[in-house]
Amino acid sequence: MKSIKTKILLGVLAIGAIGTFLTIGSDGILMGQGEKSSGDKIEITCEEENNMADKTVKSDEKLKAALTPLQYEVTQKNGTERPFSGKYNDLYEDGVYKCVVCGNELFDSKTKFKSGSGWPSFYAPIANEDVQQETDRSLGMVREEVVCSNCGAHLGHVFNDGPQPTGLRYCINSAALDFEEGEDGDK
Ligand code: FE
Repeated sequence: MKSIKTKILLGVLAIGAIGTFLTIGSDGILMGQGEKSSGDKIEITCEEENNMADKTVKSDEKLKAALTPLQYEVTQKNGTERPFSGKYNDLYEDGVYKCVVCGNELFDSKTKFKSGSGWPSFYAPIANEDVQQETDRSLGMVREEVVCSNCGAHLGHVFNDGPQPTGLRYCINSAALDFEEGEDGDK
């Protein structure tokens, strides 16, 4: 079982590497994938929907059908929306921001702050286990990539110039998020 998984993963990574070379930035999207090729993020290119190690894995076809081109580019190809272009950049309503791919609850509006960066910024995820960090060496920079721990979707990056109490700035693409307005009336 393990060797089959390994073979599948190697195959998927190979496809991902080829895709990386073939993909050129499209309209309105700053490509953030660069030369990242050995990441342990599971590229969602399996032919059938299935569950592997608690990760919800959907077929690439289904993802393309379910997501807008920008959502797909950001979450599956490590793309970055243009600054100040995202629908949640200036939103400060009470609620929860979920992963646009799998619905995993990622960030609470209470941790959102005005960073001036042009992207939704949070000083903490709802729970540390909701997101995973991976070192991203693309575009000639070393950054900490943030991905959804449930489905592996690329969300953005985290920097250590945020406000207290954490000092962190989770710089997240609107296109990777789905906002759900709060229902508990604690605005
Ligand atoms: Fe997710």
